[in-house]
Amino acid sequence: QPLTPPPITQTRSTCCYCGVGCGVLIDSDGTRITGIQGDPDHPANRGRLCTKGLTLPLTAQQQTGRALYPELRLNRHMPRQRVDWDTALDTVAQRFADIIQRHGPDAVALYVSGQLLTEDYYVFNKLAKGLIGTNNIDTNSRLCMSSAVAAYKLALGADGPPTCYDDLELADCVLFAGSNMAWAHPVLYRRLEAAKAADAQIKWIVVDPRRTDTAAQADLHLQIQPGTDVALFNGMLHHLIWEGLIDPAYIDAHTAGFAELKRLVRDYTPRMAAEICGVLEADLITAAEWMGRSSAALSLYCMGLNQSAHGTDKNLALINLHLATGQIGKPGAGPFSLTGQPNAMGGREVGGMANMLAAHRDITNAEHRAEVAALWGIAPAQLSPNPGLPAVALFEAVRAGQIKAIWVVCTNPVHSMPDIDKVRAALQQAEFVVVQEAYGNTDTVPFADVLLPATSWGEKSGTVTNSERRISRVRPAIAAPGEARADWQIADAVAQRLQNLLPSRPQGLFGFADAETIFNEHRSLTTDRDLDISGLDYPLLEQLGPQQWPWPSGASGGQARRYSDGVFATADGRARFHATPYRPVAEPTNSRYPFHLLTGRLRDQWHGMSRTGRVPALWAHTPQATLSMHPMDAERRGLQAGQLVKISSKRGQLILPLAFSDEVTTGTVFAAMHWNAQFLHCGGINETTLGSVDPQSAQPELKHAAVRIEAANLP
Ligand code: SF4
Repeated sequence: QPLTPPPITQTRSTCCYCGVGCGVLIDSDGTRITGIQGDPDHPANRGRLCTKGLTLPLTAQQQTGRALYPELRLNRHMPRQRVDWDTALDTVAQRFADIIQRHGPDAVALYVSGQLLTEDYYVFNKLAKGLIGTNNIDTNSRLCMSSAVAAYKLALGADGPPTCYDDLELADCVLFAGSNMAWAHPVLYRRLEAAKAADAQIKWIVVDPRRTDTAAQADLHLQIQPGTDVALFNGMLHHLIWEGLIDPAYIDAHTAGFAELKRLVRDYTPRMAAEICGVLEADLITAAEWMGRSSAALSLYCMGLNQSAHGTDKNLALINLHLATGQIGKPGAGPFSLTGQPNAMGGREVGGMANMLAAHRDITNAEHRAEVAALWGIAPAQLSPNPGLPAVALFEAVRAGQIKAIWVVCTNPVHSMPDIDKVRAALQQAEFVVVQEAYGNTDTVPFADVLLPATSWGEKSGTVTNSERRISRVRPAIAAPGEARADWQIADAVAQRLQNLLPSRPQGLFGFADAETIFNEHRSLTTDRDLDISGLDYPLLEQLGPQQWPWPSGASGGQARRYSDGVFATADGRARFHATPYRPVAEPTNSRYPFHLLTGRLRDQWHGMSRTGRVPALWAHTPQATLSMHPMDAERRGLQAGQLVKISSKRGQLILPLAFSDEVTTGTVFAAMHWNAQFLHCGGINETTLGSVDPQSAQPELKHAAVRIEAANLP
């Protein structure tokens, strides 16, 4: 009797890696994922996938390294033991309730992730803010895009990009700032390449201290000194103003604050700005001319602007250029912040940060608190008016003993946070640590008193929102391994137990039936907000496919571009210019630490490599961690390619093999952020980075530190 192979079914879902949010079609035989292809109907990728997306099936079958069962340790001297779900959930609820009763709600914290689905994010946010009564819930998205959020709100009145992916093909001048899009957002980059191949008149300008793959293909690469972006943008604006390349009618009709900005940039002559940036004055002027004379100028920016102690200013200075030239709210034009993670946008939508409430509301705004309280059916006084602690300050408070219990969800702070020795110290100091993870071998898991196994890509149901505000469904193709559960289910189960243990807190907020029920509650909170999706539901997403917000009740479609009518989301409808003086990096180099260290991503790896590190083919592009240094610097120090070197900062050190590279200038070195304790003797490059944060966004300066490089003397 010949064996009949099980039938293959196809599941429409979304890639779990970057903020491009590519649609995928997953083939599965019921138990295994057998193949993947790009969804030809998804507007983000139109059937394309990059190497990471294409190899997702290879990561989905492996149970090695997955967290499969709940685990608990009774004290820090014992290893964790497998326990049943009820024991794990009861323990988490009881320990949290006990600490809340002894020390108050702000003695506990949650640290979540832009990898979570919107529905997961929503339940965790409601658990912290509605049930526990603390705003100490922050996210690794704080490390990723909080400066972009702060700047959009300050300049345009609301979070969210005014642009869409179709603008990629409509721009005749593209400015990439702090974005190696060729590697970090490859599918969108292919769209830009195709547009440029079809029209040689399109100009590309890349602003980056490193000659990345993106920079190598630019018409003009402004290889600025690290952290000097604001001086560059101010110098470009100076030229635009004095050469009459701004749009006075647009400025008069739709903006405020231009006079003050004009006074500031008077001092930023192209010569002076070019000197600060270390570029040619003529190149700065060329960039300004191309942008000013363009019929549609699009700026694409990412971590190079955001991960900075002055990240909000960098974003604002770039937005100033668009407002001054009227290059916003029209096809092919606008400041477009690319999100790193797959659902950094969705997290913002549900208010999943320490300073936000659901639907882009602010914690400090009493009206906003009253609105959310009414929609949750609780008294406004049950919502704390005090902003919670953002990521770096949150772990500092754990280290100081002010926060006693922390629940880390779907993220690996012992690798991704700056100055990670302090994070290790914080987790050692904490009375109680919960780690909720799909993978049981991250650098953070050893600190867990309770490990809660979570489902992962291919096993989950919900939604994500990509960089262009487009909401896509994520659907399961196979069952979860072991006893792993959906992140929202775990949060909901703990919340129901906590309600019983905290009778003075609001009751009856949980017991969600499924992801769709959560989405429906989430969308009901968005009515009349800038991101109104009250008209969008799962059946519509099923019928029409991925859609952009806003989509208010009664609408027949989403909105591709915002502010096309020149009316912004501020009280008076006018966008705001912000006078942004240039400030140097948080940690300047000196004779002891003479090198600028830059950090960034590799083409074929993702974050801490929990998933991509399992695919042999993805190691071919960059087989090992290295430190890139200009050959002239190496020669001066007598260092050889391949030699082990010690990279030291004021905070820590690590040893890596040296690689010669002319992608960096002399005085600058580069290391990728992916490698961690699974692959090295230490937690990776964040052993050396610093916890200085942007005063407006609280985003840390992960992109730059002052370091010393010397030959490693191994015993
Ligand atoms: Fe996935 Fe991003 Fe690659 Fe698309 S570009 S396949 S979303 S990693």
